[in-house]
Amino acid sequence: MTAPRPGPTDAYAMILEAIDLGTYRPGDRLVESELAERFGVSRTPIREALQRLETQSLLTRDGRSLIVASLDHNQTAELYVVRGELEGLAARLAARHATVEEVRVLRDMVEADNDLRDDPAALARANRRFHRQIHLASHNRYLVQQLDLVHRSMALMATSSLAVEGRGHIAQAEHDKIVRMIEQRDEDGADEALRLHISVAFTTRLKQEAARREEEG
Ligand SMILES: [Zn+2]
Repeated sequence: MTAPRPGPTDAYAMILEAIDLGTYRPGDRLVESELAERFGVSRTPIREALQRLETQSLLTRDGRSLIVASLDHNQTAELYVVRGELEGLAARLAARHATVEEVRVLRDMVEADNDLRDDPAALARANRRFHRQIHLASHNRYLVQQLDLVHRSMALMATSSLAVEGRGHIAQAEHDKIVRMIEQRDEDGADEALRLHISVAFTTRLKQEAARREEEG
């Protein structure tokens, strides 16, 4: 057994993580007193965190209450376009600037995450760590900031495309390819491999949505 990863300690990060992990889903109402109790902090930091999340459009008003925002079809598509471009750029810059140690961390992550292929929730967390590691390896702080923003909005998608049957295995093979390109310092190859990875994830999500619409009649 490995010890659980220590979670964030400030109210903003705690609420953000809860949205990210699906504890709170799009449409759920967030109540200050309940959050204060759940996270064991006083109401003032919770209120400030909620205001900040509202400013970032992660929360929206429904009458007097705050609910977790959701993305419509167009917003989702727009987000994937930006994500593909920025992640591709990050991979390109990582191939150029990553240190030997950073490349080794990416390789170790891919190997370790192979064991999680059949556990969508664990894989989704590992996936975020992996992409974050590539962002950092780009050694471009403005790009890292923009990607943080994109990934925060990604949390508003109700489910991960990694939850689709078989997607975990394919995504891991794609991660492997991305790291191989970075290891070979192939900037075009890394850019292309990461764009393709994001494109396949988007296609998977579109199919997931289509299936859901069918189920709902
Ligand atoms: Zn990925």
